[in-house]
Amino acid sequence: MNELDLILTGKTEQHIHWFDSKIGVHVEMLTAFQQLQNAAKIAGLDITIASGFRCFDRQLAIWLNKFSGLTSVKNAENKIIDLSLLDDEEKIHAIMLFSALPGASRHHWGCEIDVYAENLLPAGTSLALEPWEYQSSGHFYPLTCWLEQHAKQFGFYLPYDKFRGGVAQEPWHLSYLPLSEQYQQAYNLELLTATLTHSEIKPKKQLLAILPELYQRYIMNVANI
Ligand SMILES: [Zn+2]
Repeated sequence: MNELDLILTGKTEQHIHWFDSKIGVHVEMLTAFQQLQNAAKIAGLDITIASGFRCFDRQLAIWLNKFSGLTSVKNAENKIIDLSLLDDEEKIHAIMLFSALPGASRHHWGCEIDVYAENLLPAGTSLALEPWEYQSSGHFYPLTCWLEQHAKQFGFYLPYDKFRGGVAQEPWHLSYLPLSEQYQQAYNLELLTATLTHSEIKPKKQLLAILPELYQRYIMNVANI
């Protein structure tokens, strides 16, 4: 695999600047992010990254935990789904509403971050990273409004701004366009097929059988730039 394909599938972290042991972002978006953060600070919002770069193995663990039932899977109404009632193909779709396939997460790229406003989190409350927190009655709503108005100025946009039949609306997910535009263009189904074929993913056979459909519905199906 060449360097670009390694980045696209989460198989390298050479492009990552680590803030601490858990949170890292692409070195080439560091300045833009700090500018966004400074501007938001003036507007009274302490923008904090909940999740940045994620490697293939981390995404694989998230996937397998959900597929096996170790981690709960929720529907669009935030209700826990009983996966034991679903067949494998239904499980795949249920997981993909909120979690990407390993090798296909935009978080592999390093230029994608999930953010919240730490100062808007009520005392004694922990971050859920669920849509209600960002909607008009939620505590992060001022952040949602600010991002809609200002993220663009700093090169960021929201690829999951609304539900398009694939991934759920994710008002917390920011993408740094100067990098993500290139990565999205370079990404392709053949790369994902090869990556999953040589992985420990489950259920591999069923996934590979419907991968072209999943690719269109969940991976390519994001907001227009
Ligand atoms: Zn995200």
